[in-house]
Amino acid sequence: MKTIRFTNLPGDGIGPEVMSVALEALEKAGQVYHFECETTAHDVGGIGIDNHGNALPDKTLEACKAVDAILFGSVGGPKWESLPPKEQPERAALLPLRKAFELFANIRPGNLFPELADLSPLRADVASAGIDVLCIRELTGGIYFGQPKTTRQLENGEKEALDTMIYQTGEIRRITEVAVKAAALRGKKICSVDKANVLETSVLWRQTVSEIVQEMDPTIELSHMYVDNAAMQLVRNPNQFDVLLTENMFGDILSDELAVICGSLGMLASASLGTGRNSHDLPFGLYEPAGGTAPDIAGKGLANPCAQVLSAALMLRYSFGLEDAALAIENAVNETIRSGLRTGDISQGENSVGTREMGTAILSHIQ
Ligand code: NAD
Repeated sequence: MKTIRFTNLPGDGIGPEVMSVALEALEKAGQVYHFECETTAHDVGGIGIDNHGNALPDKTLEACKAVDAILFGSVGGPKWESLPPKEQPERAALLPLRKAFELFANIRPGNLFPELADLSPLRADVASAGIDVLCIRELTGGIYFGQPKTTRQLENGEKEALDTMIYQTGEIRRITEVAVKAAALRGKKICSVDKANVLETSVLWRQTVSEIVQEMDPTIELSHMYVDNAAMQLVRNPNQFDVLLTENMFGDILSDELAVICGSLGMLASASLGTGRNSHDLPFGLYEPAGGTAPDIAGKGLANPCAQVLSAALMLRYSFGLEDAALAIENAVNETIRSGLRTGDISQGENSVGTREMGTAILSHIQ
């Protein structure tokens, strides 16, 4: 029997509540699809600060380095908000983790179930078809990290600030490879988003993406779109997209737009893949829900566990190659939603259930 090894870092707020459901879903999937989970929980975020004086304690980082993937909850909350920005749980835990594992590929599935169409701010006739788009964003390059990055005083009394947008073909190549592999498991369509009519980096991006897709899988239908048009098309007709591939800053904006049109943070998972290969010769990855620690409902057993459970499914897919088990978990969440069960965030004032009841229903549908 295959054994999968990962750390689970529940974090703060609703993190531990939704993590326990995700771990049970993995256990259940393991029974059905014949794999065993070997996992240990470690402190991260606010609880890391409280227990060890550090949002990413050394012990936690060491434990992550000894396994093949990280299942992350979420971190932060009012208790730590008065700390200096650099010590805030989100920044002090997630940034060093991204750095330690060179997490260069951010994968955000944007799914809106037709049954939840009312949650979307999109026009009813657009939302009622549901949404199924996978956004793949380059996470470690581009204008957020390019050097030089400075502000200086000019002789005429004005100030001048400078950011540098920079990409090398190797960076574009590796993120395109992720998109090609992901598209092969879905609709085999990639739309690459850039601004090649004004940016040199985009010209190189477009050229490199075209070459890699052609080289890796010419059966993939590749299109290119300017980012301003992509932002419009995403609200006009999101389902024209299958896989959206883009650089860091454009992806930051488009992935949030995608999250908003999908309606609820409690439903959205994400994956960040690293440059390293794990012991299964697959990418090391960090898997987490798109939402935060939801302090308004933390500790009340009301959180929606779907995003955390779907993050666990992404982990099975990308870091362990267990596609059937990943699909079984995703289908179980679909079935649970289809059966009409709703946590408060997706119930629109109707009767709602708590984290446990939602979790039990998801487990019962894993087959
Ligand atoms: P949030 O995502 O925690 O909450 C926004 C709203 O969405 C709240 O009303 C919350 O109840 C709801 N929500 C989010 N996830 C939900 C779920 N699973 N089930 C039901 N409802 C859910 O965002 P916020 O309020 O801006 O931030 C709260 C804290 O979380 C802050 O300290 C912030 O720094 C932190 N945060 C952490 C991460 C992370 O760890 N990656 C991401 C975002 C925010």
